[in-house]
Amino acid sequence: MPLSPSRYAAVMREYDRRRADAEAKADAFRAALYEKMPALADTERELTSLAVAQMEARIKGRPFDAGKDAEAREAIRVRRARLLAASGLTEEDLRPHYQCPDCRDTGYIGNDRCHCFAVTAASLRPAQPEMADILKRENFGTLSMDVYDNTTVLTPPGSTVRAYMMGVTAGLVQYAREFSPRSESLLFTGPTGVGKSFLMHCVTAELLSAGFNVLCYTADELSRLFSRQIRERDDEDLQELDEAIAECDLLVIDDLGTEFGNSLDATKLFACINERYLRGKPVLLSTNISMDEAAVRYTERVTSRIATYKSIPLYGQDLRRSARKG
Ligand SMILES: [Zn+2]
Repeated sequence: MPLSPSRYAAVMREYDRRRADAEAKADAFRAALYEKMPALADTERELTSLAVAQMEARIKGRPFDAGKDAEAREAIRVRRARLLAASGLTEEDLRPHYQCPDCRDTGYIGNDRCHCFAVTAASLRPAQPEMADILKRENFGTLSMDVYDNTTVLTPPGSTVRAYMMGVTAGLVQYAREFSPRSESLLFTGPTGVGKSFLMHCVTAELLSAGFNVLCYTADELSRLFSRQIRERDDEDLQELDEAIAECDLLVIDDLGTEFGNSLDATKLFACINERYLRGKPVLLSTNISMDEAAVRYTERVTSRIATYKSIPLYGQDLRRSARKG
């Protein structure tokens, strides 16, 4: 799905903002350092006047001793490095620290989009601004099996939660690795706090960094977006929401059944899920309500579509609550 011109402009504005931010921080750091160390400031001034002299010589056609110039520069650089080292710094510390060093926060490497582009674009979608932060915390790299109990054998699944989760995780790593916009849909079920969201975020992070277009919402966010969509008719992003949801490579809906207030409208939910189904595009869905409850809440049309998803039941204790206790 190509980005709309307005979304593309928003992504490029975000890169401009990041670059300006990194450069402003570097400038402020350098200015503060130069104030403390005038001798260091001198070295920069000397390097600048050498560059100016060289340019002048070229423009005015004056003779220019390149060897002598290189020697002078090298001497200044050595002095500068020594001064920096005395403060435990290197030239690198004075350069801007870009969020993505690969593209220096431009979004592009040559003519190709940088690997960070998809994540940046996703982080700017409606209700997605926190997603980038969440995905930094919750991905296969940060997923730890230590949080899962390895002492009690549960039936189901007939093993400890840890052993079971290792199997589930291996399956999801493979799912992400072999992912295509034709992959199967998955349904994560189980009580609150057993890691459903975390696992879906792992897959999301993996696919975003592979350049896939993933939209990830909680049912609550989605429900709020749909109500705003009706109210805010001139918000282009919101008006594009249906198409974005239908067309993205993977749609993730977290925590179906827990949305508050105006619960996710059954007709809207059916439209999302049915459109994906008709287009043969995958959905990751998590819920802690049973399919019977879901049928009552969202109609059987919805649950009959969800019934085609591959079910991944999760078991165990509420990890968030036990973490709070311990
Ligand atoms: Zn980049």
